[in-house]
Amino acid sequence: MVTPSSWYSGIESLVVLYGIIVLRYFIVAGFFAFLLRCWRRSLAVPRVEGDGHDSGRSREAGIGRDIGLSVGSAAIFALVGVVLMQAVQHGATRMYGELMGYGWWYLPVSYGLVLLLQDTVFYFTHRLFHQPQWYGYAHRSHHQSRPPTPWTSFAFDPPEAILQAVFLAVVVLAIPLHPLTLSAVLITMTVWAVINHLGLEDLKLAWYPRWLAWSLIGPSHHSMHHACPRVHFGLYFTFWDRVLETQILDLPECSSSRKSR
Ligand SMILES: [Zn+2]
Ligand SMILES: [Zn+2]
Repeated sequence: MVTPSSWYSGIESLVVLYGIIVLRYFIVAGFFAFLLRCWRRSLAVPRVEGDGHDSGRSREAGIGRDIGLSVGSAAIFALVGVVLMQAVQHGATRMYGELMGYGWWYLPVSYGLVLLLQDTVFYFTHRLFHQPQWYGYAHRSHHQSRPPTPWTSFAFDPPEAILQAVFLAVVVLAIPLHPLTLSAVLITMTVWAVINHLGLEDLKLAWYPRWLAWSLIGPSHHSMHHACPRVHFGLYFTFWDRVLETQILDLPECSSSRKSR
């Protein structure tokens, strides 16, 4: 039964969770933005300007816009998170508390399984969001900063934020997960998203260790996606991009696609 005190504790949980998600964003994105600035200064690496890239004040405005979108996305994640916390309390999810409840081997296996599922859902919905009928209200804002910055990592239009939050909720409802596994997934998701948005277009894939460029999405892959939205739709793994031939090895290969956007 819903009582005034349960409403109050629900709102309190929502405010606390929202604060944690926003704080996590500022700490992780701010840390990487700071490192990036120090690196560019120490090596005198020039910022990418011209050829469709933001410069000067528009870059600062872009960071402000990305932070605004991210703070909005955090509200959606917090709302879904609070509903999920209620579901956990009522035993309606598959979360388990005993560390060895499914055997030690299940911890890394369930972690890998969630990342694989998330990568697959992200790839296909990301391609969908780039369709003209979806792009305008589901994904355009994420692509406005050119090149992206760590602040872009959580900058989603509401439909994309809802999809990502609901995906995590469905996973927790459907797959047995220990809180440590779920925490590891959330940390991976956060750090990987920020690394993917370092905006290092000038970092060539050919400079990566071959196995790394072949298997995992990194800042070069995702920077190419932001410059050339017809390629590199994956989140963690290059698997779907390789299978469905939506990857390129260098930015010049997509110059015709860039002109078309
Ligand atoms: Zn992006
Ligand atoms: Zn995109």
